[in-house]
Order: sequence, then structure tokens, then C-alpha cells
Amino acid sequence: MTDRIPAQIIETVDPSQPIRLTPAQSGGPIHTRSFSGRFRNLRLLGGGLLMLLYFGTVWLNWNGRQAVLWDLGRQQFHIFGATFWPQDFILLSGLLIIAAFGLFFITVLAGRIWCGYACPQSSWTWMFMWVEKITEGDRHQRIRLDAAPWSAGKLLRRTAKHGLWLAISLTTALAFVGYFTPVRELVGDLARFELGSASAFWLLFFTAATYVNAGWLREQVCLHMCPYSRFQSVMFDADTLVVSYDATRGENRGARRKGSDPRAQNLGDCIDCTLCVQVCPTGIDIRDGLQLDCISCGACIDVCDSVMDRMGYARSLLRYTSERALQGGATRFLRPRLVGYAVAMTAMIAAFVWALEARPQLSLDVTKDRTLFRENIQGQIENMYRLKLINKTQQPRQYALALGDGPFELHGQRQIGLAPGEIADLPVSVTLLDETQGFSRELRFEVSDVADPASRVSTPSTFVAPSRAPQ
Ligand code: SF4
Ligand code: SF4
Repeated sequence: MTDRIPAQIIETVDPSQPIRLTPAQSGGPIHTRSFSGRFRNLRLLGGGLLMLLYFGTVWLNWNGRQAVLWDLGRQQFHIFGATFWPQDFILLSGLLIIAAFGLFFITVLAGRIWCGYACPQSSWTWMFMWVEKITEGDRHQRIRLDAAPWSAGKLLRRTAKHGLWLAISLTTALAFVGYFTPVRELVGDLARFELGSASAFWLLFFTAATYVNAGWLREQVCLHMCPYSRFQSVMFDADTLVVSYDATRGENRGARRKGSDPRAQNLGDCIDCTLCVQVCPTGIDIRDGLQLDCISCGACIDVCDSVMDRMGYARSLLRYTSERALQGGATRFLRPRLVGYAVAMTAMIAAFVWALEARPQLSLDVTKDRTLFRENIQGQIENMYRLKLINKTQQPRQYALALGDGPFELHGQRQIGLAPGEIADLPVSVTLLDETQGFSRELRFEVSDVADPASRVSTPSTFVAPSRAPQ
């Protein structure tokens, strides 16, 4: 596999007059050419859904509260009526493992397709490229503008481009910070110039990060910073679908007159127009073989298909196919690794759903006082505890406190009402009812929902008594 090809792109400032760029130019920013096609439409759909989800969800309300909100101050994560607490974050780990297996599955099946169609880095980069196109023109106009001396027109175009980039970056940052600070308050504070220092810092940070990532770094993030691009290649096998050039059909490449017989000129179907290079967001030539830099976006397939149509040749000189298919075999979709990932993912999703359903809606932590024991005015041995109760439901609840079996008596509040998400810190004492002393014994605190006694939690602790009966 070729790691990276030197960028020697054939330029068409005037499409009818191809010229070769200097190495300095080819090492500069990648200006992609506009194109259309079915994979572009698919990418627009993927990117559009991602943006709708990202920018839309933050504004949704649910039960009078922002539907998705990480309330860092109260250590709660709200998502559509469900609240997760730090104790539930094991579920989040489970979700991340499921997502990782999903990514493994899709990579073995179709290579780096996630990068091309749904990755936020790619989607924002495509959006920034679109802004570049509407402000500075198509590819050849942008290359000319780069090379042109500064003028009022160039300044205007550049200002418009960077202004729009910054506006998108700020909107992106507002949505991102809005998942951690109620977004309506955040926008109101911003409009009144009353932002807190933490919100202002994170807004600036994410605005800068978006602007730099999607505006300047672009494919460099995919090539050098994204860990997925490093390990995905080792997951490929001979049946993985990747964007490939059918060299058997395409070579020898070369220009020819439309309608002429290429075989008579010892030519294949590739007319060497380099359009596939010109539309590539990572600036590679896929005809050199599979490369780490390819994000499987299908742009080169779209443009090559349009060339094949114009030439009257069959489509799919560039296509998603497997190494096995290119060598004349049939791609195997049902293979052990793929089935293994699918089975593991299904089992994990089932376990996750079960854990989600079984998640207690009430939490009880018990802390024993540092004083081991004391004697009360009735001469009984007494231990002190602090109970921390959390109502994890979305409704107010009344809870009853009790002790499990044992020679103990609970003193203090026996019922408590908690608002949704409220945390109570209750001091209680427990006395020993029998004469047997000189031991440490387990006791259990039990809390149940008065309206639904089946919803209960039980937490163990220790009762300590002296080795001799007090005099
Ligand atoms: S777009 Fe197709 S015909 Fe043109 S250079 Fe690329 S592979 Fe060859
Ligand atoms: S080679 Fe083709 S599929 Fe790969 S990144 Fe470039 S345009 Fe996209």
C-alpha cells in the first residue's frame, strides 16, 4: 500500500489548457473542484442529518427542561426525560464500547466510509469548502485568487469567507457549550454581553477549534491527528469494500479523441483527465492504489462516472470494491470477523438495554460516623450514620426508611419527600436492642418508595459495640 503520493496535480485553470503546477503550489492548500453525483448526494444527506441532530437537539425541551444537558455543577446528565448520575457512567462506558464495535464492524465491511459520510470533521470541512466556493468561486478561480496580488476585490472575498467561517464556528461553539450550559441562557447572556468567564473561555476555545480545524487543517486532521486513520488500515481484509481504480480496465491511461477506438491506440478507459484528483479532498490520486489518506468519500467515483458517461464508456472505472473482486473473485460479505463483530455488538446492545431498564431509580449511600459508638441516656449502645438519598426519577417521591433484620432500632426521620433529582443528606442513629455486645455486626439500611414499595434499595453498613458491657 502506498502511504502518500507526492502531490503533482494536473491543474486546469482554463479547463481546455492543462498546466502543471509548481511543487510549491501543489504543496499548498487543496482546492477541490465542484462535482455532482450519487455519492455526493449521499454525503450531503449524512452531513445534513448530522448537522440537524447537532444544531437542533440542543434547542429541544422535554418536560420543561432542555432535553439534552450535561449539568456539570449538579453532576447530572439529562437526556429526553432520563437522568444519569455519576454512578451510572458505567453505562456510558458501555455505550462507547458499543460505538467502538460499530466502528470496527463498518470498517471491516466498508473501510473508512464513516470518515467520508458522517464524521463531524469531514462534514464541517465540506461546509467550509462550500463557503469557500460561494465567496471565492470554483477551483480555478480560487487558485487564481491565491496567486493574484492583494486588491479590494480579493480583500472583500477573503473577508466574506473568513467572516462566514467565523460565524459558523461561533454557532458550532454555541451549540456545543449549550449542551453543558442551558443554551437559551447562554445565547441571552451572549446577546447582553454578560457571559461568565468559563462560558466565554469555552465559547472562544471551540470557535477557534472549529475555525482552525475545518478552515485550515482540514485533511491534515484526517491524515495526521485522527487515531482512527492509523488503526483502520490493519482492519481491512481482502473483502473490505474500498474505493479502487480498476487498473486492468483503465490502463494504459491517456488522452484520446471522443469516439475514437482506445484499443487501436493501445489505451484503456482512463483518459487521464485528473478530475478524480481535482475533486479529492485529501489531494491524492487513487489510481496509485489504496492509500491511508483516502477517506472513502466517493467524490472521485462520482466525477469519473460523469467522465465515463461523456466518453460513452461503462461506469465504475473507479468504484467501491474489494481486493478479491478486483482480482476476479467474488466479495465475501459473510465472514467470521464480520459476523463476530455483529454478534458481539448485538449482545452488548441487549446487555445495555437490560442495564438501562434495571437501573435503580433511587440511590442510597451510607457513611458511618467516625465515632465508633456511644452510650445514650437509656444506657443503650448507639452508632451514628449519614444517609445520602437521591431521587433519580422525574417525579416527586416519598420514601420510607427502615432497617433490615437484626437487633437494631432506627432513630430519626422515617419518611422523606424528595423532588425530582433532589439529593438529601440525613443524619440517623441506630441503637442495639439486645445484651450481646463486643462485636461488629452488619446491618442494612433500606429505603423504599412509599407509592411503589417494590422500588427499594438496601445498603449494608457496620454496627460497632464495645467488647464489654458498659458499667
Ligand atoms: S476521472 Fe476517471 S478517467 Fe479521469 S483520470 Fe480519473 S480515473 Fe481516469
Ligand atoms: S481518493 Fe476518492 S474516495 Fe478517496 S478521499 Fe479522494 S476523492 Fe474521496
